[in-house]
Amino acid sequence: MTESKTTEKIRCDACPVMCYIADGKAGACDRYANHGGDLIRLDPLTIIQTGDQKLVPFLGDQGDQDTWDGDIIKGDRPFITAVGAGTTYPDYKPAPFIASQKIDGIDMVTVVTEGIFSYCGVKVKIDTDRHIGHERDVVRVDGEPIGHVTTSEYGSKMLSLGGVEHLTGGTKKEGRVTCDALLKLCNREAVTMLIGEEGHETEIIVEAGQPPIINGIRENLMRVGCGSATIGMFPMQWIGHVDDVVVVDDHITGVLSEHETGKQLNVPPTGIKILGRRSTSGRYFQVAEPGLGWGGTNIDDPLKILGPFNPKIAWEGLRLLMVSTTGEQYAYYELDASLAPQPKPIPAQLKASADLIAENCEPSVCSVLFMGGAGGSLRAGVTENPVRLTHSVKSALTNVTCGGAETYVWPGGGITVMVDVMDMPTQSFGYVPTPALVAPIEFTLRVSDYKALGGHVDHIVSIKEIKQDTARKVQKNPRVRDPLAISNYRWSKEAG
Ligand code: SF4
Repeated sequence: MTESKTTEKIRCDACPVMCYIADGKAGACDRYANHGGDLIRLDPLTIIQTGDQKLVPFLGDQGDQDTWDGDIIKGDRPFITAVGAGTTYPDYKPAPFIASQKIDGIDMVTVVTEGIFSYCGVKVKIDTDRHIGHERDVVRVDGEPIGHVTTSEYGSKMLSLGGVEHLTGGTKKEGRVTCDALLKLCNREAVTMLIGEEGHETEIIVEAGQPPIINGIRENLMRVGCGSATIGMFPMQWIGHVDDVVVVDDHITGVLSEHETGKQLNVPPTGIKILGRRSTSGRYFQVAEPGLGWGGTNIDDPLKILGPFNPKIAWEGLRLLMVSTTGEQYAYYELDASLAPQPKPIPAQLKASADLIAENCEPSVCSVLFMGGAGGSLRAGVTENPVRLTHSVKSALTNVTCGGAETYVWPGGGITVMVDVMDMPTQSFGYVPTPALVAPIEFTLRVSDYKALGGHVDHIVSIKEIKQDTARKVQKNPRVRDPLAISNYRWSKEAG
């Protein structure tokens, strides 16, 4: 980092804003400050101790036992993350840290920088059946559009938030609000959003790693499957205890007696009539409107999806279970003499089947995946020949991590990465007021490969030379692959 001193202020050149910062003050992003005329990065550099095996003393080695603290970590392979590393600007300057160390006898280098991502956003997966908005509905925060509802996945609603169109393509306020919402989501903070048109909005509070709160109600379970799948999974709980089962689902409502499952298990027809669009045997679409009721529909009374029973087939006393895809809602009926379903107390065996459905549901959670493209400054900070870095990543010679967490690198051109923010150290993200998100990114590869792609080899320093006493040291996240493992590379498999 370079700085230009004026009489009172120093200039930060870590991003295009180029703040002049007075002594004792921080710049516009709160990441850099003027400390007695020195420009300092306010957050500590974060180092991951990747050797996570606990050392165990030999039995009988009393000397060791006396001094044993029981929790010594073999932290002999520190991984310098880009969290707190700082940025370089403009693009041609080498990354803040280009650190080398031997890994399993091989000279490796990690190029470390906090990237300024003008092209970035988050994909949010919300495990719920409940209707949060239609596909393409706008998602707003503080009245500003920050993204939209995108294609639902199995048991989950999906949001696509941020992106350059919202960060820079709208009004100044839209960009600022979008950046702030992305920053909070990536740093695992809660964000309140409104989805849909005025007067029909759904309020949803999203926080990474936590269940969503939809219109003030905390979601509990993620569905076990669609209605059809639920019929296929639990028939043995029902056969002999009930004559028909309907699993109410906004997407695919299942009916046991008509379903292939029921046919194979010799469940006789019951004359039931579902008010929906029949897809295939025992599978119905559009039985109701989407909503916050049973199985993601807008109904609280499941009988609303039934038409009259066929009098030629149905019989008085026919037993019917209706249950939602999470097993949280259930009702038991018996047909009266006029073949109308009458609610009855649910028999214990059928209650147990609803409980089993619920037991097989996973907890509902919001997942936030940061997605960004490594552009000019990032790649030029690694090599004078940026496209070679892209080729190296695509050839599995360079491992890309964000705060030490493994990333998914999208196929095709560029280095477009996606990472689960829960895999990263806390407070990994920052912002600059351009507006853009600041996210850590590291490129690790063999020194020989780094030389071959035209890397800034003159700036390589041994990891031992990097001042670590003021660094924040965190243990490797056990969910995450070791960012220094040589098994991350294609060549290690070819050699093996
Ligand atoms: S916004 Fe932050 S990084 Fe950019 S110049 Fe100002 S203090 Fe430096």
